[in-house]
Amino acid sequence: MKDFYGYAGALLEVNLSEGIIRKTPLDEEMARNYIGGVGFSTRVFYDLIEPGVDPLSPGNVLAVGSGPLSGTLAPTSARAEILSKSPLSGFIGWANNGWSVANMLKYAGYDHIAVTGAADRPVYIVVSDDDVEIRDASHLWGRDTFETTAALWEELGKEFWVTCIGPAGERLVRFASPISRQHSTAARTGMGAVMGSKKLKAIAARGTKGVKVADKKRFLALCEEANKRFEARHNLVNEWRTYGFLAGFKQFFNTEEFLKLKGGYYACLSCPVADNAWMNIKEGKYAGSSYLCSAPGTKLLTCANTPGLQEYDEVMKLTELANRYGMDVFSTVAMVTLSNALYKGELLSKKDTDGIGLADNPESIQTLLRKIAYREGYGDLLAEGMRRVCAQVKGAADYDTSIRGIDADGAKGGMLGATETFGHVTSHRGGMMERSTSISFRPRKRESYVTYSATIGVPEEAVERVCEGPEGLNTPRLTRYVEDMQTLIACQGLCRRPPVAQVWDIGLHTDFYAAATGIEMTSQELLRSAERVWNLQRCFNIREGLTRKDDRFPKGLLPMTLGGVEVSEDSMDSLLNEYYEERGWDVETGRPTREKLVGLGLQDVAKELDGMVGKQ
Ligand code: SF4
Repeated sequence: MKDFYGYAGALLEVNLSEGIIRKTPLDEEMARNYIGGVGFSTRVFYDLIEPGVDPLSPGNVLAVGSGPLSGTLAPTSARAEILSKSPLSGFIGWANNGWSVANMLKYAGYDHIAVTGAADRPVYIVVSDDDVEIRDASHLWGRDTFETTAALWEELGKEFWVTCIGPAGERLVRFASPISRQHSTAARTGMGAVMGSKKLKAIAARGTKGVKVADKKRFLALCEEANKRFEARHNLVNEWRTYGFLAGFKQFFNTEEFLKLKGGYYACLSCPVADNAWMNIKEGKYAGSSYLCSAPGTKLLTCANTPGLQEYDEVMKLTELANRYGMDVFSTVAMVTLSNALYKGELLSKKDTDGIGLADNPESIQTLLRKIAYREGYGDLLAEGMRRVCAQVKGAADYDTSIRGIDADGAKGGMLGATETFGHVTSHRGGMMERSTSISFRPRKRESYVTYSATIGVPEEAVERVCEGPEGLNTPRLTRYVEDMQTLIACQGLCRRPPVAQVWDIGLHTDFYAAATGIEMTSQELLRSAERVWNLQRCFNIREGLTRKDDRFPKGLLPMTLGGVEVSEDSMDSLLNEYYEERGWDVETGRPTREKLVGLGLQDVAKELDGMVGKQ
């Protein structure tokens, strides 16, 4: 077996139907072509999954991977993604978290794990270096995520990292989330429901092998350089660390009240930012509650317009409960908001809502949460997620503000920024900006976009096109390059929080990759691998029936202005055309062209898609 640096050197498959565990050596071609993390997951998932499978059937595949920098001293190198076919969208889904079991899997010797099939009874997977076992989890089934993790720590030892589901995942709530180490949420797209459908309660891992890097001296010098860059951005980093929010927290929230709840800071491995914090409620009806929250400001923002969630302790209690049940807090709040809108619109009555009516106080909201998590009564309907609820309730179609089934309320009116909002429709998982965060969350001058373009590797010939528009950018064209850069970040195993992404320019990525792995690739080659991953994900969705019509903002989120350009149902087409053109995709269909796929080395995928022409 080849000796790898940066990489652990092996991929793991656990088939729960057959109880079979396979270990496959990594090869360098896979490493170069897909880099790692979400890149490996995408390729393995695409190859293993049959088109058209029900996301909640044994045919779905759950993939978790770490990147070549994961588990090293490279700053912020602790993030990993869980990827699968989403039970909310029916397309590719993924969710990112720190403290993921993926980091420990790497220390145990595996870059990646793919869970296939489904068990006929509750199980958990335990990995301890070379030993991999599927164990009975009947004693854990029914417990919430905090209790499950505590029970596994008691059983195995606290050195095991645990990613597990709670009651929502067990009951296939379509927006159920796995939780790592009791607080770190792989929130979006229903990955917890996929685990539940496989009767997989948890993955627990412990590794003692560490990670070897190819050139220690160069690697340590790069760590020093990266840490200096974080220090140089002290104000930005400190703002994010303190509030978990940028540009305007003080404008929207009462910082004094917020800071009263904040206890000690907490960081993912190797992270100088440390935006996780203990939230301690000292007074009032939740006094004594204490839990670890990641970027708490984002939770406040999510709940800001929810009646009945005006006090910070109420928001924090709601977040804690969602984590305990193992549910995506963003989708949970979206479902509470939707429920209230349908009730106010007289599309649902008190009888339909089990007597709750308007959930406009903390108690009724908490009751709704419990009902959803356990699929009790009315909660069974809400557990299906926004798209299905709006399809099921007569007259509710216009209330659906999801994109590909993933609630996208945050995008309303374009308030998140230009590429950040536009990326909601081009993201393969739909309804979230996490591959399109750039610098456009606040107004900038054109020169800033020119400088930024260089940091993310926009080719010189494209800069004029990308930095052209009333506010110094062409939103769809810039989004294309931001997505590739963000995909590279995810493949490397790094964090994509805004202050972090601004430190990791393409030069730093390139140097770190070479120093860690010993594989020399140019910046453009690395970005090409990220582009390959992005195109493969698009092809997966096309294989599942996605068409250009799916790349739309729902009416409820429009109109908006992005980069100084008005976005309406009519103008959306021309914006999409620009995006497809910049991607080298067919403008009429929104599909990667044969030339594009062959150019990326995806001949097998091009052939498969050729075979589908005329079948859709
Ligand atoms: S910025 Fe926050 S989420 Fe990202 S690696 Fe650091 S502590 Fe973890």
